[in-house]
Amino acid sequence: MRAEIISVGTELLLGEITDTNARFLASQLPGLGIDLYWISQVGDNQARLVEVLRRAWQRSDLILITGGLGPTEDDLTREAIAEMLGEKLKLVPALERELQEFFARLGIDMPLTNLKQATLIPSADAIRNVSGTAPGWWVEKDKHILIAMPGPPREMQPMWHHQILPRLRQSTTGEIIVSKTLKTFGLTEAKVGEMVSPLLAASNPTLGIYAKVDGIYLRLTAKARGQKQAEEMIAPGEARLRSILGEYIWGTDSDTLEAVVGHMLAEKGLSLAVMEGYTGGLLAATITGAPGAVAYFKGGLVAGSEEAQIACGVDAGVISDCGASSREAAQAMAGAARLHLGADIGVGIAGVDEPGGGEGRPVSTIYIGIDDGKNKRAITARYPGDRAWAKRRAVATALFKLREILATAG
Ligand code: ATP
Ligand code: MG
Repeated sequence: MRAEIISVGTELLLGEITDTNARFLASQLPGLGIDLYWISQVGDNQARLVEVLRRAWQRSDLILITGGLGPTEDDLTREAIAEMLGEKLKLVPALERELQEFFARLGIDMPLTNLKQATLIPSADAIRNVSGTAPGWWVEKDKHILIAMPGPPREMQPMWHHQILPRLRQSTTGEIIVSKTLKTFGLTEAKVGEMVSPLLAASNPTLGIYAKVDGIYLRLTAKARGQKQAEEMIAPGEARLRSILGEYIWGTDSDTLEAVVGHMLAEKGLSLAVMEGYTGGLLAATITGAPGAVAYFKGGLVAGSEEAQIACGVDAGVISDCGASSREAAQAMAGAARLHLGADIGVGIAGVDEPGGGEGRPVSTIYIGIDDGKNKRAITARYPGDRAWAKRRAVATALFKLREILATAG
């Protein structure tokens, strides 16, 4: 099945919004075994929209459209589909009633312009929209499937997951693509590549290696007739990768370092506090991004200057002289966070940018201290590159180190 995505909206062409709808839909198709051949963007102009639709109808079996289903005059997707197929728009009383009810629940009169959201052509079925007023359209004609969805992602994605995906899965009987991602930290991309090189040559499942801020990801992708077969093809590859990379693997698929660490803290009944210089609160923000963090995260302090970092160390009585950004400063900050916020474990991050990263870029030297009341540990990491990236990298390094310590703690 050949698929094509069309994103409708002048905002896209003006560079005002990014086409995340196309990206989302593109990521959904491999799982259905559907090959995506084209992605187009077109403005709110009926003639050009019809032109793009005509071409899509000629060359693609499945056409996915987002945007232009709103109530205003520049929302022209329905009109353009009707024109391309040579069919007439008709008001559907049942849809009109649903719209009236939607507005009644909000306690407002339905604007007349919304009426066009209750129209269909003979080849189209309405797709329920639980998050907004515009129903989607499911058109089947001459062996083509054309699906129109609303533009706002918070309306489009639930519609996709709950109404469209199950129906599409039914009509596509071919192969599906299943993948599994293993996430590592602490090795370079080149080193990972070298370690897993025997697996890189395989064609089903294939192995891909991707460098991310929270480590190197390895993705196994299998093509098969069904979910179960694909999973069975992936399992031996995964076992092999686990035996090669062992301790470096911290999670899979949608896992995040903060959720993995949070889970371990919750399980062991331990609490955490942080004090940050270099990362300016990013570690605390990341930790609180994990669900349930309120149970184990006592809080964070942000030091605005090296002086504040040193003062904290002295004040906490942890270390009398922690120097400027240094291992000792990071340890002192970890101790101060622990003591001041009453946590079992404290983490401190200090760091400096210095010239030398090449092309005018800095080299960041980061010190991470971890204090669990028994041991004070400190690690030093150096990253070339930009500051925003170094901050994210420092957070990932701190979380990975925490995970390591928690894994060995009783
Ligand atoms: P509405 O009823 O809100 O008018 P619509 O179906 O007519 O919905 P558009 O008017 O095209 O959709 O877009 C509405 C909003 O949806 C945009 O302002 C944008 O925030 C979001 N949106 C639309 N298309 C995309 C896209 N391709 N990627 C990401 N966001 C999008
Ligand atoms: Mg609109």
